[in-house]
Amino acid sequence: MVDGDSGVEVARRVADLTLDVQDFPQPGIAFKDLTPLFASGPDFAATIDTIVGHYGPDSFDVVAGIEARGFMIAAAVAYAAGVGFVPVRKVGKLPRKTLRETYALEYGEATLELHADAFSPGQRVLVVDDVLATGGTAEAALSLIEQAGGVVAGFAVLLELAFLEGRKRLKPRSVHALLTV
Ligand code: AMP
Repeated sequence: MVDGDSGVEVARRVADLTLDVQDFPQPGIAFKDLTPLFASGPDFAATIDTIVGHYGPDSFDVVAGIEARGFMIAAAVAYAAGVGFVPVRKVGKLPRKTLRETYALEYGEATLELHADAFSPGQRVLVVDDVLATGGTAEAALSLIEQAGGVVAGFAVLLELAFLEGRKRLKPRSVHALLTV
């Protein structure tokens, strides 16, 4: 039985086109490979339309995507909703003044950056990534967006690993996962 925040039908589409790759990128990790979903036009379009439909085009002003797989989904959501796209990038990629947040990974740490002037004050930002695992990446991204003056309208992912309890960590922001496993 598959399920997610937008019902069984779209959850099944995501589940059917996700491959589990054991021990990638390191031993003990079951990597969720979403490339078959991205490669299927009707299924990719259905996931994007579901995200836009859930929030409604009037509930956010801009979409932020987290590098790298979040970019693909976020850019498509932005296009479908007729709004702009803002990248949250890995350290050292953005050319102008940035805000920076370092967070813990399962092994080591990582840093995300956002242009300091990415948002006008109070702009409502829908944040998008592919997978929610421990929530560390999302927590850092959401914090950067709030530091930059954005208001988080929601955090949307294609797939959530519920046993890692990332959703709890992001409270009180709203999380929307098309598939929860
Ligand atoms: P986390 O910070 O633990 O929530 O990890 C989320 C980020 O790492 C997302 O940007 C995902 O792209 C990636 N990620 C973490 N775990 C997995 C996994 N099992 N399969 C695919 N991507 C993952």
